[in-house]
Amino acid sequence: MNFASKLVQKVKDRFVQHKLKPYQDKLKAIHEIRLEGWDDGKLQAESDKLKAKARSGAALDDLLAEAFAVAGEAASRVLGMRPFDVQYLAGAALHEGNMVEMQTGEGKTLAAVMPAYLNALTGKGVHVLTFNDYLAGRDAQWMGPVYRFLGLSVGFVKEDMTAEERRQAYAADITYVTAKQAGFDYLRDTIAMKESDIVHRPFHYAIVDEADSLLIDEARVPLVIAGEVASSGGDGGRMAKLAKELRLGEDYDFDENKRNVYLTEAGSEKAEAILRTGNLYEARNSHLLTALNCALHAESLLKKDVDYVIRDGRLEIIDPHTGRVAQNRHWPDGLQAAVEAKEGIASGTSGKILGNITLQHFLSLYAKICGMTATAQDSADEFEETYGLGVVEIPPNRPRIRIDHDSRIYTHKEAKLKALVKEIADVHATGRPILIGTSSVEESDQLAAELEKANVPCHVLNAKNDEKEAEIIAKAGELGAVTVSTNMAGRGVDIRLGGGEPEQARQVAELGGLYVIGTHMNESARIDNQLRGRAGRQGDPGSSRFYVCLEDELINRFGIEKAIPASYRTAKQDEELSASIFSKKTDHIQRVVMGQNFELRKTLNKYSDMVEEQRRIHQERREAVLYDEDGMSAAEKHIRLYLMDKAWSDHLAYVSYIREGIHLESLANRNPVDEFHHRIIHAFELIPDKLEQETAKALAKLSASGGADAADWEKQGYKPPSRTWTYLIQDQFMEKKTNIFSF
Ligand code: ADP
Ligand code: MG
Repeated sequence: MNFASKLVQKVKDRFVQHKLKPYQDKLKAIHEIRLEGWDDGKLQAESDKLKAKARSGAALDDLLAEAFAVAGEAASRVLGMRPFDVQYLAGAALHEGNMVEMQTGEGKTLAAVMPAYLNALTGKGVHVLTFNDYLAGRDAQWMGPVYRFLGLSVGFVKEDMTAEERRQAYAADITYVTAKQAGFDYLRDTIAMKESDIVHRPFHYAIVDEADSLLIDEARVPLVIAGEVASSGGDGGRMAKLAKELRLGEDYDFDENKRNVYLTEAGSEKAEAILRTGNLYEARNSHLLTALNCALHAESLLKKDVDYVIRDGRLEIIDPHTGRVAQNRHWPDGLQAAVEAKEGIASGTSGKILGNITLQHFLSLYAKICGMTATAQDSADEFEETYGLGVVEIPPNRPRIRIDHDSRIYTHKEAKLKALVKEIADVHATGRPILIGTSSVEESDQLAAELEKANVPCHVLNAKNDEKEAEIIAKAGELGAVTVSTNMAGRGVDIRLGGGEPEQARQVAELGGLYVIGTHMNESARIDNQLRGRAGRQGDPGSSRFYVCLEDELINRFGIEKAIPASYRTAKQDEELSASIFSKKTDHIQRVVMGQNFELRKTLNKYSDMVEEQRRIHQERREAVLYDEDGMSAAEKHIRLYLMDKAWSDHLAYVSYIREGIHLESLANRNPVDEFHHRIIHAFELIPDKLEQETAKALAKLSASGGADAADWEKQGYKPPSRTWTYLIQDQFMEKKTNIFSF
């Protein structure tokens, strides 16, 4: 380190220390409480006392030191892990609702136990939101004995659980669950016809693990609940046929970014003639225009076996980030139907959307949230602005000695691949374990094939199974292991040197520890750092290096190769380029992209925030009916709930219809966001009166027919959907569309 960077480091360290100061004081107070000499019974009685205090209204802040000391002592007795000081510090920062940055392998799972315990003393329930179902089960089982020793209950939720099992898990003092599962359960609760169907309690405190992934990368993913309704046929088949007849380049074309299609004048005329509708751009035809656009998009921008696969007669989307089949995902309504029509398969989704919520909005239902991850600092502004979460950086328990090498940069892909294979083969020959992060399944298969040719056996991670994935990743630190994985694979899994076997661990450490290689630069520095962080856990040796080439997608997209002196971008060459010019540029690109994505998310929030506000108003009104005990008959309650749900579902359909066409408003020189707000506010305002009229009519009809039991309601048509299902929406197209029109 030269003088200047030493100085920068010193200033940075001092800043970190400054932010930690209040927590250091708490740490001192925790250490002053000596519990080692107490027997188990006394410790447990102390926990009961704390519980009684919290439930009779004592401020949790005042109980913090004692509760943390008690939980720490319990952890060391039950798990054989005495929390490190950094874990107490992290725990205190989590309790205060911060975003805690703590490196991989530093023990975030145990750090979360202290604030979870403290906040669960109130009896109001704490959720630890894990990265996937597998980790929910693992962490609940791992940490469960500590809570139970202290007289609290623990539960976890998995995909295939029944409603009753879920209700029990949420009734526990501490529940380990993914945000998606919790969110889906919430959506089901919002359409419950009986109080006893509800599985959640009011949302109290959530600790979000791998928080950047959820709060930033996935924050805008809408969770959806849909229900069965009679199919209306739709325009899908007709439009798919028309889209095949229109010619790319003549009748329709792409925008420059290949994100959208649009009809040319010739195309519009042709379509109008075939559809016999008159002017497609008149308001009365806007559903046709939207459907045709979706069909053209499906026809020309979405490719089978690249963007989606058809399996067992069903459409499955491939996640553009991981290259794997994304479980339980749909494209937005119109587009999904258009692709299904294009492929001539039965629509698996022709249900009606009954409710939806983005993960971000779902999280805001909790009275208090906090998060932890190894990579928070790079997105500190966004955490602060979007969630009001300050980032607190926790220093490592033992100093980090991982070496992050400069990237190696090549002119073209073949040169990069050749260099990668050589590097991996050379290092593998020494026995040192290597973990390689690639961008897609395709890339990982290609690399694995090349490695095989070079006689380097490797594990390729394309299992969709979290459990198996965790097992393979956990072994990535063994002598001679070469593991090729996709980006995000195995977040949350601990890679121990030598697989945790002491003699092997020593050998691997002598070889330099785990070597992490990235085969491309990611959009966000966070993701790069997440990958690097797989090496060098708990002060282990380790190193990381990224391989980049001028043909990489990210570099291309931002035209960085143009920003590079002509002499460097002339011919293809096998040797690496001198790195110093590029590393600054690549950092710059990442910062620009992260900034742009942040702005984009803000713009998109302008659309969804308003609908969410309406949803909450609607939900409050609905709860007033559901929980009404002083007056309403069972028949009236049922009818009111039924009609309210229908009104909301209709409203959502209207919102999405407006949303799909709203970007056209900017062509008419109107601000699309304002126009959108204007229309949906108006539509929402009409709901209450309409509902009152419908309810009165329905009740009159029922009383006229004499009956008022369930069979009568259903006979009269007031029948809730017989089957509901939940899924996530893959919304990158709408995002891109909005993007274009809002900058
Ligand atoms: P993170 O989530 O921060 O990546 P984990 O919670 O998975 O880290 O823990 C990493 C490893 O550190 C685990 O093997 C765990 O057993 C170990 N560990 C954590 N805290 C302690 C402790 N206080 N004492 C001993 N081992 C610990
Ligand atoms: Mg973890």
